[in-house]
Amino acid sequence: MARPLVCFDIDGTLVRTRGAGREALDEAFEALHGWRSATDGVHIAGATDDVICRDVAVRFGRSWTAEQTPALRERYLGALSARLADPGRTEVLPGLPEMIAATAELAEVCLLTGNWALGARAKLDAGNLSRHFAWGVFSEDAADRDGLVPVARRRARLLGLEVSQVVVVGDTVSDVRCARAGQALAVVVETGFSTVEDLRASQPDLQVTNLASGRDEFLALLATLNR
Ligand SMILES: [Mg+2]
Repeated sequence: MARPLVCFDIDGTLVRTRGAGREALDEAFEALHGWRSATDGVHIAGATDDVICRDVAVRFGRSWTAEQTPALRERYLGALSARLADPGRTEVLPGLPEMIAATAELAEVCLLTGNWALGARAKLDAGNLSRHFAWGVFSEDAADRDGLVPVARRRARLLGLEVSQVVVVGDTVSDVRCARAGQALAVVVETGFSTVEDLRASQPDLQVTNLASGRDEFLALLATLNR
């Protein structure tokens, strides 16, 4: 029987890492390109890592080519891991991991995130959440976030999963836009990077304070998709 596919964002939705990602990007850009505070003023929340690279380069009057990404990513991953090794750095958000387990009773689950795949794993490992996600879609999989839902559908099919509706769970208006671009439902939590008002204005299908207080409403929504 076809089941819904629930795609979880990471930053601000599952975990918060107190700026570790931004700091690690800044360290990598400075080390490899000499650009100081490279991400200042660059829109990061909800953007994919590849888009961030492009936007940073533009800020410094350069263009970014795909050939520059592997070295930058390598350096970033090292800087990120060093920060995430501090146990105080990663905060697992309310309701987790119980909510993921409850979701998996009613739906397929995957990750849908703007992180590079290895960065995503590093953040999930830091929050001890990795084992809940067998697969996902990442920055490497599309030109920008809006292209990620179709990739998730395709990947589910390749894995032999029969998917009915797709549900994107995120913390920013970019998550809502990405859901709409992929004809998916949008569920947002108020634990992340968009304001409560901006989230409301983006008209998600469900908006909850966090995944603990919104658990019942969210599971009720999933149950309607299983009928
Ligand atoms: Mg997020």
